[in-house]
Amino acid sequence: MEIVDLNGITRVYRSGALAVEALRGIDLQFSEGEFATIMGPSGSGKSTLMNMIGCLDQPTAGSYYLNGEDVSRFDKSKLAGVRNRTLGFVFQSFHLLPRTTALENVELPLLYNSDNLSWKEIHSRARKALEIVGLGDRTDHNPNELSGGQQQRVAIARALVSRPKILLADEPTGNLDSRTSFEIMDLFQKLNQDGLTILMVTHEPEVAAFSERIVTLRDGLLRSDKKVTPANAKEALANWIDQEDLEIENEMKL
Ligand code: ADP
Ligand code: MG
Repeated sequence: MEIVDLNGITRVYRSGALAVEALRGIDLQFSEGEFATIMGPSGSGKSTLMNMIGCLDQPTAGSYYLNGEDVSRFDKSKLAGVRNRTLGFVFQSFHLLPRTTALENVELPLLYNSDNLSWKEIHSRARKALEIVGLGDRTDHNPNELSGGQQQRVAIARALVSRPKILLADEPTGNLDSRTSFEIMDLFQKLNQDGLTILMVTHEPEVAAFSERIVTLRDGLLRSDKKVTPANAKEALANWIDQEDLEIENEMKL
């Protein structure tokens, strides 16, 4: 079964007499376990599409089946429920609470949406999520005591703590340098190998190269949809380090 099944999706933004057709009939499916990237020029509808897939917005026309349910007809509270149960979000700016530890930031979604979990269970789930992203030794640090890459890892742990089926990431490496971007892609590839479906927006081809499918939008329409052989982020990182060493070596020779 397709976990995301979009059929004839349109989205028209209206303000007064003006209407902007941000999506103009999108047919698009994603299977469980995919790691896909959405690309396209600015204004092509990427964020509108991500908001749609993320149940933050609803189509003007068309149907959207998420995990087998027709969410295009859901009301606001049912949509919020689906979001909490099925989806995790990561953004370009990490949206962490300042003066709040990494652990508390990650616990937050479970406090809103606890399923009656005990405190002990909330702590242990949050701790485990931080371990998964490689920050088991940073649980008591506030965001301003962490690097950009570490802050994005906390945000990823916060997205994972509710055990979503799909991770939606809108420009997750937009605020990170290349080296740190590759580290985040290494984490995404690991999470994807463990079964998580990942849908990511990026405008950087070298980041998209780590996913296995690249969907391109243009003017609210699907322009291309290609399966690709993903680059290996771990190898890219290893080569990166080699190159740095080489540069240091060359400097020493001078
Ligand atoms: P992208 O993320 O690819 O840059 P968007 O999905 O943000 O594109 O925008 C697609 C089109 O819809 C653009 O023309 C944009 O100006 C318009 N748009 C986006 N959000 C709104 C809104 N809230 N109100 C009116 N127009 C919008
Ligand atoms: Mg956008």
